Amino acid sequence: MSTMSKRGFLAGTAAALAVRSASHATTPDSARKRSYRRIATEEGFTIPEVDAAAAAANRATGGAGMPNNPAVREAFRNAAADLGEGRIAAMDAAGLDIALLSLGSPGVQNFPVEQARELAQLANDRVAAAVRAHPARFAALATVAPQDPEAAARELERAIGTLGLNGLLINSHTAGETLDAPRFTPILDALQALDVPLYIHPRDPLPSMRGLDLPGFNVGWGYGVEVGTHVLRLIAGGVFDRFPKLKIVIGHMGEMLPFYLDRIDNRYLWEWNFRGATPPLKLRPSDYFRRNIWVTTSGVNYWHPLRYTIDRVGIDRVLFAADYPYEDMARDVRAIERTPLSISEKRKLFDINASRLFRIA
Ligand code: MN
Repeated sequence: MSTMSKRGFLAGTAAALAVRSASHATTPDSARKRSYRRIATEEGFTIPEVDAAAAAANRATGGAGMPNNPAVREAFRNAAADLGEGRIAAMDAAGLDIALLSLGSPGVQNFPVEQARELAQLANDRVAAAVRAHPARFAALATVAPQDPEAAARELERAIGTLGLNGLLINSHTAGETLDAPRFTPILDALQALDVPLYIHPRDPLPSMRGLDLPGFNVGWGYGVEVGTHVLRLIAGGVFDRFPKLKIVIGHMGEMLPFYLDRIDNRYLWEWNFRGATPPLKLRPSDYFRRNIWVTTSGVNYWHPLRYTIDRVGIDRVLFAADYPYEDMARDVRAIERTPLSISEKRKLFDINASRLFRIA
């Protein structure tokens, strides 16, 4: 090696070390070149106690759960249970800076109420510890047991106020009831008072929506119809007139609702006119969608639905999500980076919108 190239090599190495030590030691260096971080907002985790409780509940009811390939199931469970170095290595490989973690669906919502309350607290404590250990890489949404709305509101206050988590995630219906039901008002009160968002995540369809659980189509269509219907129930039930500052986040590019906003407005006005009645809501359905709803790209990181959704709801309301470990986060980061979005749009989609909405420092 010549003196010149050796000096160049050493300078390059020193520069690389300087960059590493100047940034958070655990932040990928590429984040500095990008001018924005990449935050993913619907990233699943599990804890062994919740897995064990779900398995025991399955055995008790004689159900085996969905038939599965044991090797795939095991790899999936290990990825979901990793709240440390393994997950961070996968994030680094994907070029992802921060994962907003949430307990995998259906969370604790199928358990008896007392067990559900305890497991929710445990999951919140566990994920808060992971965030404390890796504050530059993880943020998290709280879990509650909606079965007991008063206790759920108190646990949300603890998760936000004491544990410092970034919002709440509920896996759609609880025992067939959606959040417009009056008994869930304490949860909505707490969300609005704390000014934190609620992420409504899919789960198996409502018992009244039989036929959506088609094998092979349940997740790709049934989940979207179920959560989309849940959101329309909140709008139709006047929840956003009662809670005008409520912030709801939905994944999967808006669970198909952006595509239908015009038709929903049109037929809403038509139906009430046809009945000879004044429409009961203060605003048009799409107005609530643009005021109270934020959309993430989880599982739908494809260019055409993304461009359409940004055009309909605005770039300030669309957030990146990968839906790890159900989806491939490296593939999805690449897919979005390859789109013709401007740098300013990518900055909002990947970083600014999530930072603001979930208060991620
Ligand atoms: Mn998900």
